[in-house]
Amino acid sequence: MPDEFDSGDELFDGIDLAKLEDPDYGDDLFDGLDEAELVKLESPTQTPAQPGKRSYDNGAIVVNAFPSLKRQKSSQPTSLEVNNTEHLALAERLLSEKFGYKSFRHEQAGAIQRILAGQNTLVVFPTGAGKSLCYQIPAIAFPELDKAEGLRASGKSGVTIVVSPLIALMKDQVDALQKRGIAADCIDSTKKYEQTQLIYASLQKGQLRILYCAPERLDNEGFVERLKEIPGGIRLLAVDEAHCISEWGHSFRPDYLKVARFVDELKAERVVCLTATATPKVAADICKAFNIQKECVFQTSPYRPNLHLHAQPVETRYDDISHFIELVRTGDPHINDKRFEEMFRFLRNHPGPSLVYVAVQAQAEHLADALRDQGFNAAPFHAGMKTEDKQTIQEKFMASEIEIVCATIAFGMGIDKPNIRNIIHWDMSNTVEEYSQQIGRAGRDGLPSRCMFYLTADAFYMREVFARGDLPSRQCLRALLEDIFKQGAGLSVGGVFKVSHYSQSGEFDIRPSPLSIIYATLDLHFGLIRAITPEYAKYQFEAYAKYLALKHDKTPEGKAIFSHAVKKAKYYHIDVNKAAQATGLARNDIVRKLNHLGDNAYLKLQTSGIEHRYRILKKLPKTDKEIDAVLDKLYADLKAREKEALLRAYQIMDLITGRKCFARALAEHFGMNLRDGKSECGHCTFCLTGKPVRHLPRPRRETTAASIQEVLKATNVRDDPRFLARVAFGIKSPRVTKLRLDKHRVFRSLADHDFEALVLEFEKVCRVSTGNSGSLSRSSVKAEVIDLT
Ligand code: ADP
Ligand code: MG
Repeated sequence: MPDEFDSGDELFDGIDLAKLEDPDYGDDLFDGLDEAELVKLESPTQTPAQPGKRSYDNGAIVVNAFPSLKRQKSSQPTSLEVNNTEHLALAERLLSEKFGYKSFRHEQAGAIQRILAGQNTLVVFPTGAGKSLCYQIPAIAFPELDKAEGLRASGKSGVTIVVSPLIALMKDQVDALQKRGIAADCIDSTKKYEQTQLIYASLQKGQLRILYCAPERLDNEGFVERLKEIPGGIRLLAVDEAHCISEWGHSFRPDYLKVARFVDELKAERVVCLTATATPKVAADICKAFNIQKECVFQTSPYRPNLHLHAQPVETRYDDISHFIELVRTGDPHINDKRFEEMFRFLRNHPGPSLVYVAVQAQAEHLADALRDQGFNAAPFHAGMKTEDKQTIQEKFMASEIEIVCATIAFGMGIDKPNIRNIIHWDMSNTVEEYSQQIGRAGRDGLPSRCMFYLTADAFYMREVFARGDLPSRQCLRALLEDIFKQGAGLSVGGVFKVSHYSQSGEFDIRPSPLSIIYATLDLHFGLIRAITPEYAKYQFEAYAKYLALKHDKTPEGKAIFSHAVKKAKYYHIDVNKAAQATGLARNDIVRKLNHLGDNAYLKLQTSGIEHRYRILKKLPKTDKEIDAVLDKLYADLKAREKEALLRAYQIMDLITGRKCFARALAEHFGMNLRDGKSECGHCTFCLTGKPVRHLPRPRRETTAASIQEVLKATNVRDDPRFLARVAFGIKSPRVTKLRLDKHRVFRSLADHDFEALVLEFEKVCRVSTGNSGSLSRSSVKAEVIDLT
């Protein structure tokens, strides 16, 4: 979110502390384009990352049973002949004819047979193991099977839809498939209108075998309608990165929940879910959502014998606020941080391509600078960088022109460099799953590689800041619900209302990601509203010379645009809704025409302000009692999520500081074992020392009345104790930023306190000063903001 204010704080002058501490949520790990995905208008060019060569086969053990999964009742036939040798023969022929590979790896063959037999399947293989073939082979096998069985006419073999979260990865796959002569494409926000139309046309003719799309696309009504018209229907739906579907997964995406509904509504014949990281709980969630039986779960152990997992406690001065003050005074961000020396030494002793993972964007840059100062060939990578810069760094790293990349979580998906020798965890990863994926990028060539985890006293603090920031205060959630339900007040069931998540996030002090979870919950769990295709609120354009020719444009849409666009300074502005109303044309047709003109260099279109649209499915809650019923459930749900996020951070800490071989603890996290009956890897820090890694404790201080008073002096907010606790603890939220409290010296002043204890302290104050339980209405949030800015 852009910060509207200058950093004018004297204490932190010269250094943008706020930016320094912006965590990287890996926004472009899962495309920043989510929303553009839905409305598709611009056409930025995005060059796909270079696919690297693979030489990864570690012969991990394979199981196809999942002990913790309950057997689901199923409407699917279970008596299907799954070992159908004809299916296998066909799959093997296609593997060699189309892909040029000799044999299947891991449990590819087993999974493919299940899919061809019409069963829903879950595939859990580590990254690079070859999950994509599990749906690509069936996708091209369907027409052949249909022909052999004589059950379907040619051109009626349907299509395979692949739901995948990252546009760049989809494009890589599509390119690779097209090169092999397989009819594949993807629908995404970077496609021009004409291109999309061509894809729809070939779908309708039954010519396309595989179509990729992002999960957000499933909210697009136009897209869903097109899919209903495909001759032969959806033969297979592949859900890539399927752990995103699980609310207990490490990167839950609410839009993924809609995939299951989509399967039902479009009557997809069968489903395959694919992921590299599924704990037993997540796998159970996926199986439940898609009715997958335990014999259709194929999983391989994440164990990689060539990875040497190390961890080391390191002293820093992050455990007290003086670090930050020192940081500003000296301008030296790594003062008193022993990790620097340790890392320099480590990298000198073990040269080779390396990744250093950090939590915060600015830290990626600081580290790269520090490494360069020491003569290393290093570069940063994070979601806040320009696309071209990221592209260049990635390419140079792949080509070994850059040796070390200091990166946030944003770097890694789709990186397939065989000879990465070191993975350093400067900061603690969010979850064991994330750690597993990150270290899994090392040593794909099978040669020994090292993973070093630096454990500092503030490691957990950082994670707590991330986790706690996502839970809004109860009052804010109530104010939001009132707002949402008021939007629909004048409407009957079936009516549509629009809201801007962006402004609601600011107005009700709820971060964008929990906000989208709240909407998804109202949609999927409460069945109150349903997301439909969002719209852009604003259209404006710069006219090119050709624009004037529109004067002679005969189409009603062209005329409507020409007569309704108003020039203000450099740009023409057009109110599409008004133009539609005035001319009686459909809004969509005008938008389509604008896109067309943009694509054909009549004008340069700019769109902004995504408005999310919801259709009302049930009478919305109105009375206090009705609203509170929803509120109670939703808030309990959000609190459970916060707890789960904290738990995940404990799990990674336990893995590193536990009395167990790291590799074994890692495998067990995923419900697996090491290979060949081994119980220890023999070369992790625990195996080598026989002792657990010491965790340096973070000193906790008692809360004093004076320290609480300091925070209260900094702001007159008294309606939200959690908000005050956030400021004291050092957690940003939209309202904290708006009031510039993240720049104030009280921000993080009580970071060494227990967060829950702080909430209790501020609750006392808020009760006294408002004389009530601190209930917050929409207008009081607003008033506060206006007063103070
Ligand atoms: P994942 O999705 O599991 O990370 P991919 O599906 O992208 O992995 O596959 C990784 C690479 O392995 C691809 O280049 C793919 O072509 C190759 N591959 C997959 N299966 C086989 C196989 N049976 N034999 C040889 N190469 C394979
Ligand atoms: Mg993949």
